[in-house]
Amino acid sequence: MKTHVLGFPRMGVQRELKFALESYWKGNSTLDELSKISRELRLNHWSVQKKAGLSCVSTGDFSWYDHVLDTAVLLGVIPKRFRDLPSGGAELYFAMARGDQKKNIPAMEMTKWFDTNYHYIVPEIEADCSPRLSSSKIFEETREAVEAGFDVKPVLLGPISFLALAKDVDGFDRWSILPQLLAVYKEILTILSANCQWVQLDEPVLCSDMSEKERNHFTTAYQFLNSSNINIKILLTTYFDELDDNLDVALDSGCAGLHLDLVRGGKNLDEILNRFPENMILSAGIVEGRNIWRNDYAASLDILNKIQAKLGRDRMMLASSCSLLHCPETLECETKLDSEIKSWLAFASEKCQEIMELKTLVTEEAACDALQNNQFVIESRRQSRRVHNESVQKRCTEITDEMKHRKDSYALRKDAQRWLNLPLFPTTTIGSYPQTDEIRRHRNDFIKGSITEEAYNSFIENEIDKVVRKQEEIGLDVLVHGEPERNDMVKYFGDQLAGFCVTQNGWVQSYGSRCVKPPVIYGDVSRPHPMTIRWIQYAQSLTKKPLKGMLTGPVTILCWSFVRDDLDRSEVCQQIALAMRDEVCDLEKAGIHIIQIDEAALSEGCPIKAKNRPDYFRWAVGAFRLTTSGVENSTQIHSHMCYSEFNRMIHAIADMDADVISIESSRSKMELLEAFADFEYPNEIGPGVYDIHSPRIPSKEEIIDLLHKAVAWIPAERLWVNPDCGLKTRSWDEVVPSLENMVAAARTLRCEHQK
Ligand code: GLN
Ligand code: ZN
Repeated sequence: MKTHVLGFPRMGVQRELKFALESYWKGNSTLDELSKISRELRLNHWSVQKKAGLSCVSTGDFSWYDHVLDTAVLLGVIPKRFRDLPSGGAELYFAMARGDQKKNIPAMEMTKWFDTNYHYIVPEIEADCSPRLSSSKIFEETREAVEAGFDVKPVLLGPISFLALAKDVDGFDRWSILPQLLAVYKEILTILSANCQWVQLDEPVLCSDMSEKERNHFTTAYQFLNSSNINIKILLTTYFDELDDNLDVALDSGCAGLHLDLVRGGKNLDEILNRFPENMILSAGIVEGRNIWRNDYAASLDILNKIQAKLGRDRMMLASSCSLLHCPETLECETKLDSEIKSWLAFASEKCQEIMELKTLVTEEAACDALQNNQFVIESRRQSRRVHNESVQKRCTEITDEMKHRKDSYALRKDAQRWLNLPLFPTTTIGSYPQTDEIRRHRNDFIKGSITEEAYNSFIENEIDKVVRKQEEIGLDVLVHGEPERNDMVKYFGDQLAGFCVTQNGWVQSYGSRCVKPPVIYGDVSRPHPMTIRWIQYAQSLTKKPLKGMLTGPVTILCWSFVRDDLDRSEVCQQIALAMRDEVCDLEKAGIHIIQIDEAALSEGCPIKAKNRPDYFRWAVGAFRLTTSGVENSTQIHSHMCYSEFNRMIHAIADMDADVISIESSRSKMELLEAFADFEYPNEIGPGVYDIHSPRIPSKEEIIDLLHKAVAWIPAERLWVNPDCGLKTRSWDEVVPSLENMVAAARTLRCEHQK
């Protein structure tokens, strides 16, 4: 029975890769130095897998930016605008990922990897694209591992997922390059076959809704690869959901092995086992690759024993459910974590050990210690007083439908909100203002204990003074406090809510060198004390203009945390919603009558398969409404979502019933408002009028242009004027003139409409 993981985290425990990359990009270190650190990291990661006892280590899973980009480079799928750059080198690779400022070549697009918070680079398939083997990275890394004495299993993104995740350029049908692509895959597998028995071809699209056409392409592709007489076994890996409609093509693929995600999939395991082809090996993805909880061995053994009884141990492999890319590397450095909570966790390294222990348990009846120890931990978590809070559970049972509805409909609320006295085209911002080095320094000093709480608090008050004054000078209509006390919109609340804890090194790659450290939700969630009132109330005391209070919504807090697996996500979300509802009501009591609840992750939490979406939107929108519906009609609720793909969720957005939503729309030049117009979206909208990701200062004229476009879709009385998102990554000398132009543009539109 072979054991393996589908991939290992790349960054290093102390985010060594992040710092090496950023130093190289800044020109502070050489490519040799970056390569050296990368090699050390790979060796390290392979050693962890080998030390745990896994049958082989994964190669090719390491990446300087993203594995989809690596695949595009490997296959020679390079968009035209990059073709003048020297082929195969780091310059080309990083230009594709990040753009080339000097040569003025824009980067490739980036988007979310299925329903994770990892982002991949979207391959662009142009009409003249001619795939050919164009990189030796995977061969070199595989050889490197072999030479260091490891048994290897190279990992590659499969051709069907590669094309499914790519985009057509200028209407060219990307599927038409499949035959050429397959020829390159054949070449790759042939070269790899010198060093390994198995190759892992990832086809996660098999766990999404595929069209009949895509399924046919899949069948063609795998028939071709499996009849190519290459001396290599293909392990076809699927993950993130059930196979459902794609089960047949997976079983009939002719691959030597099929990997199933038994954590998120496997509901119909019995049926799968009954139909499992005789010459196929099943790789059982039993240890969760996307979360951080210890595996429940008793539950896993039930499943594994069933597979063993049906297929026999020679036709089984044991594995992580998906790549471990989505969890942190090791618990070893978590010295500050509460020891009881720590005993409930397993990061990537510990998961490798779990796979081995499970193997021992299925294959050797005598090995009972591991099971007993494991069950002791599982039971301690089940019973722990830290996890269960009766008053929270009781409160959840008392939630009524009424609590999820504002007192009256938007039409009546609009009247009740007239007292806010806002002009036509009111101007506002999304919440954060520049997070200067000074702010960061003070925050770090406070965490380290080198300045007192008093000193820190008065520093923050000073910052708020500054931000409020600046906004008054700029002439904005609805002000914010600027969020200087927050470094992260989820962690700030995670730090203060009960049921949450934070790790020291629990970093997970989000994109490129960017990592996030999601808080851990281990127990029932409650709010021991108000979290934001002090700062927001202080800000309001400084101005006569209305001040908008800022909170993060329950769905976003859920999506950007590691969530307990012993309670349904919808229920965890509801608990967070109750806690945030208390905060909303306290803000209102404190005299804040405009409150924004950010739901940046609402779209990301959306299930991969269409059939699961209605249920998600029901509870996710329900949680938002539970958060916001405790206030009077006269209080105005805002929400903010920073993306522009609203078509599949416009119903849900309308259902949230926020009085005002702000969205990202400058890049689509307001085009996305069409969806809102078609839907006859009834409430107010602030379409972003400039891109905050760029240092460029938008002119008054271009903002006026965009607003003219917006007015064509949405009636003027329902339009707000704001940037695409928060301003924390920008500098003050970009922010002030940009907002001045924005305010001037809004005034121009006001004049045009009051005539
Ligand atoms: N209020 C947050 C900010 O302005 C919103 C951030 C976000 O949507 N990602 O930074
Ligand atoms: Zn945003």
